[in-house]
Amino acid sequence: MIEARCPSCRAAVSLESNPVMGQRMTCQKCLTELEVVWLYPLELDWVEENHLLLKTEVKKKTSGRRRTVN
Ligand SMILES: [Zn+2]
Repeated sequence: MIEARCPSCRAAVSLESNPVMGQRMTCQKCLTELEVVWLYPLELDWVEENHLLLKTEVKKKTSGRRRTVN
């Protein structure tokens, strides 16, 4: 079992031993729908449907943490 942090409530979210990019799960605490956006280290992010169209681009952006604004 692998654990990652829910980006919404910071609770530990458990995943299968072999998570894959784009895998979806629901945080058991806040019930937010999340998806795997990075594997090493494992990182979760909110599911945003419009990103499905721009999947490759999204991966690049999320690797650098989109909340960081300089
Ligand atoms: Zn949560």
